Amino acid sequence: MEKVKCSAVVLAAGQGKRMNSKVQKQFLELEGHPVVYYSLKCFQDSPLIGEIVLVTGEENIAYCRENIVNRYAFSKVTRIVAGGKERYDSVYEGLLSCDAPEYVCIHDGARPFVTEEILERGLEGARKTGACVIGMPSKDTIKIADEQGCVEATPRRSQVWSVQTPQIFMYKEIKQAFDRAKEGDMSDITDDAMIMERYGSRKVCLARGSYQNIKITTPEDLVVAAGFLQRK
Ligand code: C5P
Repeated sequence: MEKVKCSAVVLAAGQGKRMNSKVQKQFLELEGHPVVYYSLKCFQDSPLIGEIVLVTGEENIAYCRENIVNRYAFSKVTRIVAGGKERYDSVYEGLLSCDAPEYVCIHDGARPFVTEEILERGLEGARKTGACVIGMPSKDTIKIADEQGCVEATPRRSQVWSVQTPQIFMYKEIKQAFDRAKEGDMSDITDDAMIMERYGSRKVCLARGSYQNIKITTPEDLVVAAGFLQRK
């Protein structure tokens, strides 16, 4: 693939309340390393990625520098910045700290199983339309519920995808879309693509991730993730 300038924004500023643990989920130990180590390692080793901006809580910046960036010699991490209250606030802080790349790859630090192949497919998609979301076709039938908790609609399963990260965009376009979004109500925003869909001008394409590219959210996800790593 022709080389382009692509930065990664890795998000590790969440509180992870559903994990019921004192340690935030992105820093929990998974087979001998903190969860966030695995995705940082993928970006560090990828020839597609030029720099990594790590976004974390103000109180965790020193920990990340010592125990993650220095410990594993992640030389591509150029900045460790404080995130915000909501995920989209953290993304915005990350975007502001990128060194004007052509593309930016936004990734949840709580997803340890991103691979080089996933990055390649995502960047290829982003180069076609300007925006690409990684995901997988839904294995389950999805129902849309109404306010009474009854079924309002059943979308055709062949058209339903579960989306993951990374989500990859032309940097200028997603930054502009975020700037616009920040002026309005962002309370129902749950992923970065929604910002492009609402406030941007680029069509968002979908590219396959993997069913293994899970987000660590609840304690059982850690057991599943450890199983994936042991099988490797
Ligand atoms: O909470 P959720 O599972 O949606 O978080 C997804 C990712 O976004 C995690 O890696 C988490 O650390 C990050 N996040 C963040 N800042 C927030 C909330 C979440 O960086 N305010």
